[in-house]
Amino acid sequence: MPRQRATDAPKVVHRTARVALRTTPAQRRRCFGLLRSGGDVWATVLEFNEIRRQRGEYPVVNYQALCRELTAAGPGCFGELSTTGARSILRRYADAWVTTAKRRRQGDSSAHYPRRKKGLVPSRYYAGRFSLCGRHLTLPVARGAPALVLRLTRSVPYEASGIRSVTLVAEGSRLYVDVSAEVPLDSYPKGQEPDPARIAGVDLGIIHPYALAGPDGALVVSGRALRAESRLHLAESKARRRAVARRAPSRGQRGSRRWRHYRARTKVLEARHRRRLSQARHEAARAVIEHAQAQRIGTLVLGDPRGLLGRDAGRRQNLATRNWVPGQLISALKDKAEVANIAVVLVDERGTSSTCPRCATRVPKPKGRCFSCPTCLLRAHRDVVGAANIAARSPRGGTVIDPTGLVTTHRRAGRHLPGRTRRDPRRVALGNRVRDGRPWPAVARQSDVDPGAAQESLALDAKASRARNRPSLPKG
Ligand SMILES: [Zn+2]
Repeated sequence: MPRQRATDAPKVVHRTARVALRTTPAQRRRCFGLLRSGGDVWATVLEFNEIRRQRGEYPVVNYQALCRELTAAGPGCFGELSTTGARSILRRYADAWVTTAKRRRQGDSSAHYPRRKKGLVPSRYYAGRFSLCGRHLTLPVARGAPALVLRLTRSVPYEASGIRSVTLVAEGSRLYVDVSAEVPLDSYPKGQEPDPARIAGVDLGIIHPYALAGPDGALVVSGRALRAESRLHLAESKARRRAVARRAPSRGQRGSRRWRHYRARTKVLEARHRRRLSQARHEAARAVIEHAQAQRIGTLVLGDPRGLLGRDAGRRQNLATRNWVPGQLISALKDKAEVANIAVVLVDERGTSSTCPRCATRVPKPKGRCFSCPTCLLRAHRDVVGAANIAARSPRGGTVIDPTGLVTTHRRAGRHLPGRTRRDPRRVALGNRVRDGRPWPAVARQSDVDPGAAQESLALDAKASRARNRPSLPKG
């Protein structure tokens, strides 16, 4: 909930980060209990309003009215879920209902009122109701229940004073908290702030998620790692599906235990895949914003390709287009640009990658990554040409950028993405992990009590490993 701020206070924006929880089995049970209780609150409201509807009464959708019903129900109805947690679910219901009503009033008949019950519903806690101390988060629970102190896997990337809410969520059988905070806008030293008159065009693409053409240089971000991740994920899930195909239950039948394990694991892998791609898209957007800041670019003109997505371009290309999600690329760039005080303008990108920026000749189907014009013999990177054309379409008076003389910087998105193996390269190998300055997990417990024995066992280990690594002599 945004708080009231003084009119002369510096401008802030709200951002949310997802932080995973490191829980003990008992804490995990309690967290899932809270989420299930959230589902109970949600289902109760749905049923309550369904009964009212059958009686011909108006549904109760107002947040305050719903809170009164909750109070009337008395304590102890929803397990360990505190009143604040239950109220946040009522707020979620009220918001969903009001948003739908508004959209339907505007003539959108595809908007539906909340009507589906859910097993797990996230509960949100606003500032003052929870306490966050370093990596330890204490969530409020129902009166009488023991305190719930959870450990975060990383520090929250925001100033503690700006944190406004935390939301407990589960995705792919993992537990997270979504931490929302007020983030102040970037400030610059005098003379280094972005200049709105310096305009750069940004072209979104499948091969290169972002290509930027500015007055003093171009930036091309490679999406190779993203495409590799999508391709590997597809191959992997196909193979997994083939392996369990004969165990698949027929319609209406309950699956076997192994089948349920397969389904659960699939959810985990899908979630990991989505997380990895989304992280890579954010890194790509970060590279564009850093480049723009270094070049003092104050306006990014962004070609919006979303109008061109409906076309059927063949099986393979359709899949690539579906995996691309330009909407997320646009929102990632917009969000980061807003914090960096850079304006983003969306324009129609139709025809920008097949027109010569110098002589406006249409080159119907440019092949490969290099654009060459048959009329004026311009040769340049195809996506930079697209970006230069987009810059020229700015509604604030486009700038003409000649892509031939531009110094092009190349960046990669998704350095964390695994290449040939499926292992996350950022993960520290098992033997090299350190916690509190000591190797973790502890290899030999005896070393704590008897240093002599530990040295001996180390020497033995070294000897054994030398023996293993020695090349074996050919026999005979
Ligand atoms: Zn030309």
